[in-house]
Amino acid sequence: MSPPSARTSDAADAPAGTVAPLSQYVLKLTSRCDLSCDHCYVYEHPDQSWRRQPRLMTPGTVEATARRIAEHAAAHRLDAVRVVLHGGEPLLAGAARIAAAAVTLRRAVGPVARLDLRMQSNGVLLTPEIADVLVTHDIGVGISLDGDRSANDRHRRYANGTSSHDQVRRALALLRRPEYRSIYAGLLCTVDLANDPIRVYRALLAEDPPRIDFLLPHANWDRPPARPDGAVTPYADWLLTIHRAWLADGQPVPIRLLESLLATATGGSTGTEAVGLAPVDLVVVETDGTFEQVDSLKSAFHGAAATGLDVFRHRVDEAAAHPGIAVRQSGLAGLCATCRSCPLVRRCGGGLLAHRYRTGTGFDNPSAYCADLAALIRATAAPADPQTDRSADTLPPAVLDDLGSGRGSAESVAHLTAVHHGITRALTVALSPAATADPVAAAGWRLLVDLDVSAPDAVDRVLGHPFVRRWAQRCRAGATGELSHLAAVAAAAAVRAGVDVDLVLPVRAGAVHLPTLGAIVVDAGADTVPVVISGGVVELRAGRRRVRVRPAVEPNPDRWQPTRAVHTDGGTVLLEDTDPYRDCFDLAVASRLSPAVADRWTRQVQRAVHRLDTEAVGYAAGVRALLRAVVPLRPDPSGRSRSAAARSAFGAVAVTPVVDDAALAVLLVHEVQHLKLDAVLDVCELFDPADARRLRVPWRDDPRPVEGALHGVYAHLAVADVWRHRPGSAAAAHFRRYREWTDGAVDALLDLGSLTVDGERFVRRLRATLDDWR
Ligand code: SF4
Ligand code: SF4
Repeated sequence: MSPPSARTSDAADAPAGTVAPLSQYVLKLTSRCDLSCDHCYVYEHPDQSWRRQPRLMTPGTVEATARRIAEHAAAHRLDAVRVVLHGGEPLLAGAARIAAAAVTLRRAVGPVARLDLRMQSNGVLLTPEIADVLVTHDIGVGISLDGDRSANDRHRRYANGTSSHDQVRRALALLRRPEYRSIYAGLLCTVDLANDPIRVYRALLAEDPPRIDFLLPHANWDRPPARPDGAVTPYADWLLTIHRAWLADGQPVPIRLLESLLATATGGSTGTEAVGLAPVDLVVVETDGTFEQVDSLKSAFHGAAATGLDVFRHRVDEAAAHPGIAVRQSGLAGLCATCRSCPLVRRCGGGLLAHRYRTGTGFDNPSAYCADLAALIRATAAPADPQTDRSADTLPPAVLDDLGSGRGSAESVAHLTAVHHGITRALTVALSPAATADPVAAAGWRLLVDLDVSAPDAVDRVLGHPFVRRWAQRCRAGATGELSHLAAVAAAAAVRAGVDVDLVLPVRAGAVHLPTLGAIVVDAGADTVPVVISGGVVELRAGRRRVRVRPAVEPNPDRWQPTRAVHTDGGTVLLEDTDPYRDCFDLAVASRLSPAVADRWTRQVQRAVHRLDTEAVGYAAGVRALLRAVVPLRPDPSGRSRSAAARSAFGAVAVTPVVDDAALAVLLVHEVQHLKLDAVLDVCELFDPADARRLRVPWRDDPRPVEGALHGVYAHLAVADVWRHRPGSAAAAHFRRYREWTDGAVDALLDLGSLTVDGERFVRRLRATLDDWR
């Protein structure tokens, strides 16, 4: 087919910066396939546009496409571009055309951006000759395989109904050979509920792939997913069966969908459009050179993917500006009202666009897999028992309203605590593959997984300690030398559970640290020390020396530095002066307190918490429910009372020595507000994170980012409320000052236009609290 010729335009024409750039291209080298899979979205779904496409992309079309990609990458200064050779079946193009396409693309794009060249294939035609071409041109190849023979034969057959399984496995055996291993990019498996998930998982693992991805079968509200026997979330159940086996196996291979779910739990990006809110910057080029939207839209209706644009007449910028492509880069704003108000939206992202389609409302709907996505998201934050909804990464509207008032009941804070637990668990799970390379950490991981089944409360108690999340975040950020602390986390849980176990624990700063319990001082020199835990007694074996401590009864004051518990009316707070990860504030933490100093702190914390019932009405229950640890800080050189909280240490407030319990009460309320808001922000988008504008606020000379202003408002409102309940003219003056600060900044936030729907609702609740005081 000759190109639909018209003018071409120069890169200089490109309105760089007016559209979000596209960095991923699917190139249809062929429009036909040698298989006839009955679940294929290209041939078996409503869109039949493949019928008018030329069978092969001509060299001229490849050339024009390559020029368009290069001019777009140059105009937008893209560092890297990914091109996936696709079809139909791209291997039908033959070795010579594939090689020529690779040369053309690398010649055009290479001088401008790094080109990541891939191919997605059914593998049937893969031969050593073609594999040599793929190696020569550095083209990674992903193969579609639905599981073992019976699973694969269910759909992936030739037109005459015969199996393609042998041919695909032959291709995979080829890719496992050392000379081709570098181009083996992974397996793509379409979920079918009729297949046994474990057999599918094991069959995929047996092919030794570098990566696996699962695809939900394409469906929408007009053609809903099959739900045999009326099951509510069968797709989530199917995938979660694999998730459990995968965790138990120590995550032997990356599984993109499951890793993406974990990534969304920890605020990371997903690398897949199946979940999450990351922009989808992809366009398809058909064999005739027409730009199309993502292929899966073909499952919605005939012409759903069309743009009316092509590489000969239109720049990539014009394709990027097409409403169907641009909307997929717009995050939250591109979703329907139901998704936008859904508490899971940041992790779900509404699922694949194709799955949202319904006649009449188009794509303005939640996913037809909504229930499955929600179940998957809720379950994948827990390591050993994903069915248990402990992540609780949702904030019901009533909870958001309660917290938005500035106050916050114990029940509302329990939701935030569950969010923190979910994140800590997800972070810990995410460390498990790296932990397998460290024998100390690996043993700790195995113990933790066992305890999570046999003694989940003990595991929860330790994972809920403020500084376990901080440790996990450090490891995720690259501090892999600290992975061995996982064994200390497991050991603390074992002591709490009364489980007998032999372990090796890391030594840090001359001590073995057991989160929530305390530190055992050891002789200098060793990095690790063998430990026997039996009946709640911990015995360290360093050479011939034996150190025995019984954390519950403190029999060994020389060696054992227990974390002291401060019993307040209604709860227990740890006076944390040993945990090595407590050093996460901008201020210097105090070292181990002497018994006399610790006694003074204990009494002051008790009295400060007691004051809250009369001075911080509406806050006291929430503070008690949230506060897990008080971290003594070193005195401030200026003599000022200082306090701090850290997002990575939910439940901990750090304080310098203060003059009296009245001052401490104010600081506790102030910092707990920061912790509450941080936990809300962990699961709920209150403002546009891309908005870099700053606001003038009354309490600082320098303008603050939106998040900083929101934090200030939230903390100062609570402090104002404490002063409001204290007698005397000085208290009244403090109240007026904090109220005025809050008043002005609340209005500025509401006027800025950066708040999301939830954010505006939240800040309007703060406004209502302030108005009630008038
Ligand atoms: S191999 Fe892929 S393109 Fe070919 S029929 Fe099967 S699903 Fe469709
Ligand atoms: S869970 Fe459902 S409602 Fe929530 S974002 Fe996902 S598709 Fe939308």
